[in-house]
Amino acid sequence: MQYESSRGQYKGLKGAEVIKLGIAPDGGLFVPEYIPELTSEDLKGMENLTYQEKAVYILKQFLSDFSLKQIEECVHKAYNWESFDHEDIAPLVPLDDKTYIQELWHGPTCAFKDMALQILPYLLTTSASITGETDEIVILVATSGDTGKAALAGFKDVENTRIIVFYPDEGVSEVQKRQMITQEGRNVFVAAVKGNFDDAQNGVKEIFNDENIRKLLASNHKKMSSANSINWGRLLPQIVYYIAAYVDLQKKGVIKQGEKINVVVPTGNFGNILAAFYTRRMGIPINRLICASNANNVLTDFIRNGVYDRNRKFEKTISPSMDILISSNLERLLYEVTGHDAQKVRDWMKRLKDTGRYEVDSLTREKVQELFWADFCNDADTIRTIREVWQDYKYLLDTHTAVAVNVYNKYRKASGDNTVAVIASTASPFKFASSVARAVLPPDMMEEKNEFEVLELLSSYTGLAIPAGIKDLDKKPVIHNTKCDKTEMRETVLRFLDIK
Ligand SMILES: *Cc1c(COP(=O)(O)O)cnc(C)c1O
Repeated sequence: MQYESSRGQYKGLKGAEVIKLGIAPDGGLFVPEYIPELTSEDLKGMENLTYQEKAVYILKQFLSDFSLKQIEECVHKAYNWESFDHEDIAPLVPLDDKTYIQELWHGPTCAFKDMALQILPYLLTTSASITGETDEIVILVATSGDTGKAALAGFKDVENTRIIVFYPDEGVSEVQKRQMITQEGRNVFVAAVKGNFDDAQNGVKEIFNDENIRKLLASNHKKMSSANSINWGRLLPQIVYYIAAYVDLQKKGVIKQGEKINVVVPTGNFGNILAAFYTRRMGIPINRLICASNANNVLTDFIRNGVYDRNRKFEKTISPSMDILISSNLERLLYEVTGHDAQKVRDWMKRLKDTGRYEVDSLTREKVQELFWADFCNDADTIRTIREVWQDYKYLLDTHTAVAVNVYNKYRKASGDNTVAVIASTASPFKFASSVARAVLPPDMMEEKNEFEVLELLSSYTGLAIPAGIKDLDKKPVIHNTKCDKTEMRETVLRFLDIK
């Protein structure tokens, strides 16, 4: 299996090379040159495999330069019952007989980012060894919340790596901040940046582009890399759970061999839903991919009318992990639906960079619309959906998954399509406890309560246990208290790495 860049300048790279590089040097994203297909017999044959065995089976089709033993090692270090609190890893929970919630948040940080960031460190270190890399790999992350903690938990104590996370001082929730500043591990570093997420992200980008710092690192046998969702090594593990969902539904007898399902995904950077698209390309019978957005509905508009326009107000919502106006992974979809037309992709991406807007041709638009259906909802609808689902099914949604359920209900109404659906659940409700509590608790109960008291209240009121990754966070010792100005991030990195 070989990989190529969506902007056309790089072809014929091996899996290990693209995972190590992260982004293609021409600015594009790496995609597989073809998509391996599974037959309905293959899917039938997977019914008795564990999640880990399914992961090995799928990963080896895309990573032919890894040995079977290497893939097995990566999978078993990532998906085990020390890190995940559910034996199915990504369990399916029925809401009714046609609607299944796939809980992707049983990993250590209680958000779906763990599904990829638990394995990425091992894929990356294995890639380093396959390519003969001897330098230590330094991962730099700017986070608005979930990615930072998931990356810290994933890279913690992984040999020959270090991880440095910058978070905006006034831009993450109390739970998210606590999760990061209490992180243990001998190779982890965390710093607050005085400013907002853009300041942290711009600072990290500047460090990536700083030739001097690269040279300094190189002479200290270190190399920088990135752990965000443009890395193929983060997308690939996400294909696994969609296939697992299909196989599990078939095994339970909910669907017959070959029967189609719909997949509903609460979307921000377009990574998670793109994995579902690749799953469909592999031959898994998926009818519609339903793309759910919050008030930052740039993708809804794109899927409906073929115009991507980020020139709009950035909305701060109660589903913050979907507050995104540039969905980087959409570039991969465009490359796929145009039949690998790098010229077109380059033009659109240039327009996006220069003007913040591009419009695809009508053929491309129609192809996108054949596959995807899109809608969005605002915060009030999100709260109402959490309340209704709790009242009707005694199932507690987080704010992101609630957006997906809301949009899915709109889809069913608009289309009359009653196909069995899998809804990707991307976070534990306890991770966004104050919004979730607002939806289900009597209002007077929450008066003058801090975030940790609200967690306890939500747990006792609903009878659901607070997951280990969130419980007693306020009692854990603070390990990281570095705070820096946005102009001091470079010095902070060098100090963390002990480079003079
Ligand atoms: C990151 C995230 C999303 C969005 O996922 P994308 O792959 O960026 O589309 C949705 N929900 C939660 C809880 C997340 O952390």
